[in-house]
This record gives sequence, structure tokens and C-alpha cells, in this order.
Amino acid sequence: MNTLTERDAAAVWHPYAPMPPAYPAYPVIDAHEVYLTLEDGREVIDAMSSWWCMVHGYRHPVMSQAIKDQVDRFSHVMFGGLTHEPAIRLCEELLALAPSGFAHVFLADSGSVAVEVALKLARQQAITRSPQGTLDTSRMRLATLRGGYHGDTWGAMGVCDPEGGMHALYGDALGHQVFLPRPPAGYGRTSDDPALQTWAGDVSALIEAHRNELCGIVLEPVLQGAGGMYIYSPEVLRILRAIADDQGLVLIFDEIATGFGRTGQWWGASHADVVPDIMCVGKALTGGYMTQAAVLVTSQVAERLRQSPSEVLMHGPTFMGNPLACAASLASIGLLRTEDWKDQVAMIETRLHQGLSPLITVDAVADVRILGAVGVVELHHPIDVPRLTATALDAGVWVRPFGKLLYTMPPYIAQTHHIDTITAAMAIAVEHAERQ
Ligand SMILES: *Cc1c(COP(=O)(O)O)cnc(C)c1O
Repeated sequence: MNTLTERDAAAVWHPYAPMPPAYPAYPVIDAHEVYLTLEDGREVIDAMSSWWCMVHGYRHPVMSQAIKDQVDRFSHVMFGGLTHEPAIRLCEELLALAPSGFAHVFLADSGSVAVEVALKLARQQAITRSPQGTLDTSRMRLATLRGGYHGDTWGAMGVCDPEGGMHALYGDALGHQVFLPRPPAGYGRTSDDPALQTWAGDVSALIEAHRNELCGIVLEPVLQGAGGMYIYSPEVLRILRAIADDQGLVLIFDEIATGFGRTGQWWGASHADVVPDIMCVGKALTGGYMTQAAVLVTSQVAERLRQSPSEVLMHGPTFMGNPLACAASLASIGLLRTEDWKDQVAMIETRLHQGLSPLITVDAVADVRILGAVGVVELHHPIDVPRLTATALDAGVWVRPFGKLLYTMPPYIAQTHHIDTITAAMAIAVEHAERQ
């Protein structure tokens, strides 16, 4: 009998990997709280929250019970023509929790699909009919910040960073969106910051030049995640809100990574008190227990779409509104509602500062940045991922670096000693990287 690792390598295609794989995956046989148990018996801290979603940790009794209760009622029903209380309650909860101004929610089955829906909403509401009866579809393009990541489906990929998203690979097939320069780095920049003012001027000019082709602007507020773990000033959100209003564009915030407290506030948007027209949430929505995402929409966008020749939103996933996922999301939001996460994320932020900031003196390190429960160490050189991963595992921590970035987004339930173990493992990994 072959090992799980061997069978995996033969049959299973992993994300962002060639086939057969360049290096093996580690089988997980159990998980509880912040810990993953690997097949070889090691119990390690999950510093990734399983790609940023397991905010309450594994096998949380409230989460598990909510899903068990729902499975005993019904696991799934189609959402076309049918509805159910878990979905209704979830949409109501999301509207109550989001920045005020949203009126409707479309449930999707993954973050990428939520972004597809948001882009369709922006495009469909921009379709008009001429007095002669012909359709005007001249405003189908989106403006987006360079360095962004919005998912791996075709439309979402089109608004990812052109280099990081490997647009050139696909020729013209992805379509051509309008890429805005990345805002200057750093959370603390204020409206009188010269670099920010220059950036705002450049963005205004670009959008002005394309105003007749654009329907909206899409971005990740305050923190660009998979596009580079890049932190920028909330002032950027105010600038883009003003430009969008000026030019009649729909402003879309992709809060799939930033939502539900990860950056220290409920939403990325909360840092600036700015309300977008469309907001995508996902990842931590279900506490990581099921796959689900959601798109929040203002009544103005809904009304414009209804008045447009398209009238109906042309989207409907088979597993839309899945009751198990809704039950998980409701349970997760219930746990977050106690607001314990605020102190937890503040503690994690302080501890990450203490553990990671000193690494800036290491030669291999180009930058250290921290926001909420996100800690990032950027190296000068690309990371040898299998090697660094093995080093960190030996120090008791699961991390998954990419490019030049070693980072952590721990579960909110992590205690001080967990965070200290994570930052110690990161420090060891950085020192190893330097010696290579
Ligand atoms: C992860 C992510 C997505 C894609 O979500 P999936 O559930 O992986 O499809 C989209 N946008 C952002 C900002 C993300 O972090």
C-alpha cells in the first residue's frame, strides 16, 4: 500500500502546482483549536488559518453543532423558487453588520464567484438602450488597482494584477481592464501626503481618460492580500469614493480577505468610514467550515439594474444559499458578535509587532508590515517554499509563503504563546533563508 503522500502525488492536482507535483503535500489527519495534526504525528499551529478563513479554529463546538443541527433538518435545496430561514437570516445579519447603506444580498458559493457576480452587477446596470432601441454596451470595462487579487475564475482574473495574474499568458482572451497605479505603501498617509496626492492625480487622469468605457472600480480595501500582502492608507478609499461619485462609477470593495475583523476593524471599509456600492465577502464568512461567499448591494445599484435592458441579474449557482453553509455563517457571525475578536486581534497585532519587527535588521529582510491579525515579512529574494515550510514545521508552525513573502494570518482564538511560537518559527525560517 502506498502512503497518502504518494497516492496524493499520483492522483490529486493541488492549487498553483504542476502535475505531477514539484514537491509533496503534507497529509492532515486531525485538527483542533489552532492545531493541525499531520500524518507523522506532529501537532503544529496553523499560522495561515487555512487560507485566512478558520478564524474560530478547528472543531469549535458552536460551529460543529450548528452544522450538525442543520444536516438533521435538510442539507440542501435549490434556491430558484425556494427559500429557507437560514438564508434569510444570514442575509439580514449581513445587512445589519455591514457598513450602513446596503439593501440586498446575493449568496454565492466561493469568493471568486462573488467577484464574478459583482462585476456582472456593475456591467449590467451600465447597459442602456438608445432611443432607436439598440443596446449601448460601451461601458463594460472595470478600473482596478495594480497588485490586486480577486480570484481565479476568468472575470475575476481579469481584474487581478496583470503580472501576478499572468495576463500575458492568455493573449487578449482575458479582456483589457484599466489598471490604476498601486497606492503608495503605508497605512498612516494622510490627505496632505504628497505621494498620495500625486497618486490621486494620476488615478483621476486615467479614469477621466477612460470615463466613457468604464462601469466601475474594484479593489481590496486597505490590504491587498494574495497580490502581495500590501498595506495602504484608508485615505485611498475616500479618494476613490469621490472619483467614483464624480464619474458615475460603481465602487466595489472586495472584502473577501479583509472582512470579519482581520485588519482590526469589522471591514476594510471601516478604516475610512467609506461605503462602497457593492461589497464582496467570503473566506471567514463561514468561519472556514463550509464554502460560501456573499455580495452586498445598495438599492441604487439594484434599481439601476432593474431599469436597464438586462432587468434580471444573470447568475444562479447550483449550490446558492446552501443551508449548511448558511448555518455555519450564522454560527460564525454569532461568535464574532460577542466582539471578543476585537481584543484578540489587538493582542495578536501587538504580539506580531514584538515578534516580527526586530527581523527588519536581518539582511535577507526587505520589509516587515503588520495590520490587525496580519503579519508580513518580505524578503529580498524569492522564497524556497518547500524548504522554508519544512523549517517552520520543525519549529511547530504551518506557514505557506509565496513569492518573497512569509506571512501569518492566525486564527483569532490564538493565545499569546501561540503567536510567540509563530513569530519565533518565522524568525528561524528567515535566518535559514539568509544562510542559503
Ligand atoms: C481569496 C480571495 C478571493 C477568491 O476567493 P475564493 O473563495 O478562493 O474563490 C477573492 N478576492 C480576495 C480579496 C481574496 O482574498
